[in-house]
Amino acid sequence: MTSANASGSGPMFKRVALIGMGLIGSSISHALRRGGLAGEIVGHARTAETRATALRLGLVTAAYRSATKAVVGADLVILCSPVGVYGAIAAEIGPHLAGGAIVTDVGSVKAAVVRDVAPHMPAGVHFVPGHPIAGTEYSGPESGFATLFDNRWCVLTPPTGTDQAAVQRLRALWEAMGSNVEVMSPEHHDLVLAITSHVPHLIAFNIVNTAAHLERVTDSEVIKFSAGGFRDFTRIAASDPTMWRDVFLNNREAVIEMLGRFAEDLAHLQRAIRFGEGETLYRQFSEAREIRKGVIQAGQDTAAPNFGRADGPAVTGAPTSVEPKR
Ligand code: NAP
Repeated sequence: MTSANASGSGPMFKRVALIGMGLIGSSISHALRRGGLAGEIVGHARTAETRATALRLGLVTAAYRSATKAVVGADLVILCSPVGVYGAIAAEIGPHLAGGAIVTDVGSVKAAVVRDVAPHMPAGVHFVPGHPIAGTEYSGPESGFATLFDNRWCVLTPPTGTDQAAVQRLRALWEAMGSNVEVMSPEHHDLVLAITSHVPHLIAFNIVNTAAHLERVTDSEVIKFSAGGFRDFTRIAASDPTMWRDVFLNNREAVIEMLGRFAEDLAHLQRAIRFGEGETLYRQFSEAREIRKGVIQAGQDTAAPNFGRADGPAVTGAPTSVEPKR
């Protein structure tokens, strides 16, 4: 385990406990070790399989069945499991947290996390919720990699009255892991992410299922002709169902607000198509195209055509799985 960071000034935290070691937990371990940011990294996972894999990959030096045991003596605890279990985990680990420790998380929703976790934090422990806006459709401890957070945003949403020194320490850690950091309220985070992440995932899940349920188009045609646009939705729709169930159950209001707006705009396009209003369609599509340019200019995606992917072998029409590899 690395014990000094890149500048040689020593690790930023002595003992980091990862509660959950899937895509995000394992990527944090890689990024911490890349920068020499932690003296020691330990972890907790639910299944023996994940604990064994995490040890085999060197993600942690100890993998505990009990979250309580994992947090003993940790000066930084990072919750990296699905948000639906944060409340139960916080209640379990609360009494065992070290005085002065920072507890943070990576959950994709923030107001519900503050609601569920904050009441279990003892006095003297600093709770600073966070969300790295970075991910892939893959899950599990083998899917993580050190560069996941490079040049991506991490949002911190400290509740009012949070110790500013703790916020600054966490900001410095995420920056050392390659991220840009922004601080905002949990409610604002949830509204922004509803439109930039949650609704797009819902649309992807829905369009993939709609296509799969079509009676006059066979399954193999859906796969065979997927390069027409559909396959890009299948990538998003291959994301972890547990994680996304918990996101929608815990960001209801913001998602419903954004879905309302989406439905209105969709109806507007539908009407333009029905009445042959080409100018409306052209204007709307041109505006949308500009957004893509902004994403590229902000360094949030490649400018290479087709996301820079080298297209694979000719499509045969044979049904293929969109299951992510574990
Ligand atoms: P993941 O790869 O599926 O890993 C989840 C981890 O949590 C695994 O170690 C799993 O243990 C553990 N876990 C699952 N259910 C649990 C339970 N009921 N009790 C205790 N532990 C449990 O998930 P992930 O993609 O890393 O997501 C983790 C968190 O990151 C979520 O809160 C998500 O909102 C957030 N996030 C995800 C992304 C993304 O793109 N995936 C991006 C940003 C933030 P086992 O393997 O032993 O089951």
